[in-house]
Amino acid sequence: MLSELMAVYNRAPVEVERGEGVWLHSRDGKTYLDCVAGIATNALGHANPVLVEALIAQAKKLWHVSNIFRIPEQEELAHRLVSNSFADVVFFGNSGSEAIECALKTARRYHYTNGAPERIDIIGFAGSFHGRTYAAVNASGNPSYLEGFGPRLPGYTQLKIDDMDAIRAAIRQPTAAAVIVEPVQGEGGARALSEEWLREVRALCDETGTLLIFDEVQSGMGRTGKLFAHQWFDGLAPDIMAVAKALGSGFPVGACLATEKVAEGMVFGTHGSTFGGNPLAMAVGIAAFDEIAKPETLANVLAIGEQLRAGLQALVERYPDIAVDVRGKGLLVGVQLIPNNREMMATAREYGLLVAGGGENCIRMLPPLNMTAQEAEEAIRRLDASFAATREAIAQAA
Ligand SMILES: *Cc1c(COP(=O)(O)O)cnc(C)c1O
Repeated sequence: MLSELMAVYNRAPVEVERGEGVWLHSRDGKTYLDCVAGIATNALGHANPVLVEALIAQAKKLWHVSNIFRIPEQEELAHRLVSNSFADVVFFGNSGSEAIECALKTARRYHYTNGAPERIDIIGFAGSFHGRTYAAVNASGNPSYLEGFGPRLPGYTQLKIDDMDAIRAAIRQPTAAAVIVEPVQGEGGARALSEEWLREVRALCDETGTLLIFDEVQSGMGRTGKLFAHQWFDGLAPDIMAVAKALGSGFPVGACLATEKVAEGMVFGTHGSTFGGNPLAMAVGIAAFDEIAKPETLANVLAIGEQLRAGLQALVERYPDIAVDVRGKGLLVGVQLIPNNREMMATAREYGLLVAGGGENCIRMLPPLNMTAQEAEEAIRRLDASFAATREAIAQAA
């Protein structure tokens, strides 16, 4: 049958009907253990009763009013974000890409306002992912996301994470506006950047007046066991940060956070959004924030993250022909495979386990932050079965 949907996705043949916690139930009666969680988005599991209640209560009151009016719920969520981060101000959009757009605009506008309009260069990194809008694909520079969409936008470069000489030189260019980086790369294959690397780049930015943007769309909101991944490192903070995914825990919402000084140029008329920060999104965002920020939630991320990592490590030792390297942080964990990762995702599905793909032939596990130890054990058991089946299939083919 000809699909009436634009063919931009290679969709897994699973028709999901409903979910509860880490479990998904498909229309054909199968049950899956969901370690994708909407790509690190359903941070509190499917149909979380606290979120459902917040959404229903708000739905009965008010859905949408426009940002030309005050939206008290927006001020409440902004207050939570600001009082738990480096930031002073927040702009709400509906997605990660929009948060990134706002971050990039804020950075260029800051230099413009400070009498340096030539400072437009956005320095990004190979293997990064920042979303699918024009600015976002230019910031990540992935050739397959850029091809056929006309000339690249001016002022975007990508460097290799390991090439500190090139990074130093780029940040010291008089046209440098900002560095944009994920403290833990998500789509790139669960790659946690080192404290040393992050501190060096922060110092270079300080030295040159270049702004530092952290893309915490995937790594933020508790995913690594801190509210934001960079908070693992004392005193290390960006000037601007993009957050989304788990912020609405499944309801579309994104946010761009900045210091007051850096956001100075973002005055009336410079940016906006019709839906961004609407009461529905804010009601869910507030409820999600309060659950995620609980010490017991963050402690659970650490404990379950350790458990999954240990389980994956044991699999790497038992299946050196299948899996080679465990990486990531908290509940953003990945394992690099020898056989094709897409095929492994399909095999895992047969064993009732959903995992995400990632760069460098990884599979990623991004389960809800409130996953239990029993569920984590079951996830490893199902992955073990998938590895065994893959080994068997390889042996048969040989
Ligand atoms: C998902 C993601 C984005 C894009 O978010 P969308 O909501 O899909 O626009 C940006 N940055 C990172 C790190 C992401 O993981």
